[in-house]
Amino acid sequence: MPAQTTKDSFEAGAFHPDHGTRRISGTLRIEGGMVNFAGDQGFFAFPLDSVQINLGGASDRLVFFAHANFPKASIFTSDKAILDHPAFAQNPTLTRARDRIRRRKLVGRCITLGILALIVAAIAGVWLAKDPMVKAVASQVPAEWEQKLGDTAFAQVTLTSKLVTDADVKKQFEQLAAPLLAVVPQDRYKFKLHIIEDASFNAFALPGGNLTFHTGLLLGAETPEEVLGVLAHEISHVTEQHGMRGIVQGLGLYGIVSIFFGDVSGLAAILVNNAPFLLTQKFSRDHEREADEQGFRYLEAAKLNPRGMITFFEKMRREEEKLREKIPGGEAMDALNFLSTHPATQERTAHLEKLLAKSPRKDGFTVVDLNFKEFQNALRSKLSQPEKQKKAEKPDAKKAK
Ligand SMILES: [Zn+2]
Repeated sequence: MPAQTTKDSFEAGAFHPDHGTRRISGTLRIEGGMVNFAGDQGFFAFPLDSVQINLGGASDRLVFFAHANFPKASIFTSDKAILDHPAFAQNPTLTRARDRIRRRKLVGRCITLGILALIVAAIAGVWLAKDPMVKAVASQVPAEWEQKLGDTAFAQVTLTSKLVTDADVKKQFEQLAAPLLAVVPQDRYKFKLHIIEDASFNAFALPGGNLTFHTGLLLGAETPEEVLGVLAHEISHVTEQHGMRGIVQGLGLYGIVSIFFGDVSGLAAILVNNAPFLLTQKFSRDHEREADEQGFRYLEAAKLNPRGMITFFEKMRREEEKLREKIPGGEAMDALNFLSTHPATQERTAHLEKLLAKSPRKDGFTVVDLNFKEFQNALRSKLSQPEKQKKAEKPDAKKAK
């Protein structure tokens, strides 16, 4: 209950037939069983008994007093403290009127708050629904479109890069990847492995299933599990549709919502223009984390030791630190560089360590059926510029490029 006010005079306005429709101002007092109005231009009063009290004005800002015996006259105040006047507690008519007004104010406030809450919820809802909507839109894209998009982007890569096409090397690489690919659902994607002669420490995936490794990464890895760790991560970018989701995300909220509620055919034209974008696309932190986690699950399912994924990221982190020391700001890292697109933060390896600790597989991993050193030697022997690569395999690989 609000404390009873000791205030007895309230700034007020009034209408009175003597002044036509003109509003007059003055003060309001409740005393002597009357509601009194006194202004420069006159004085009048209503008996408290059977006085009518109502809210009025914009947003019910004002408390109006009227009386059946004085039609066309009214007194009003914006000072709601008047409802705490002792007269309201003493006079049953006034008490009822006051309680009715307070209830109405309360309901009004609840409605306002309710509407505000609805607006906030709607905005939050659309915001929260954005990622699921992006995911849903991407999953509606026909597999052939995705394949075509990835192939177009890959064709651009081959214009400027030299592919390693040696049948024996390719066969060994496929043999290495086979157990991992065997656990990945193949209903939507046909995975294709490529090796590009490039000394940088890089690998990337394109929508539809083109998986590309740079010779720098394959020759720089210490174990086959490290290559498989990266491969599992890249496969996950494909199966989780990160490339496609990145493009859809780029359409903005309006575009996403309209395609979500419309149909994906509108995307066809957009996709055609987005093939080059795929080559410089940087995945979000969330997508990288998703690729780590999904990749981990693929490795686990294939009974391949995910430890390789962790040691590879650790290696990347050391490389990154070294680079940052040398090149403040790291501007020398180009967009296609695995390091610049995959910051190997401590948090990332820590997360994988946690997953490994919880893995029911523990140590029951199979031995990779490939002589990794032999594979690396075969690959090295097929390089058109082995000297360049050799320099690259040394610790300051980055500068050699
Ligand atoms: Zn990635």
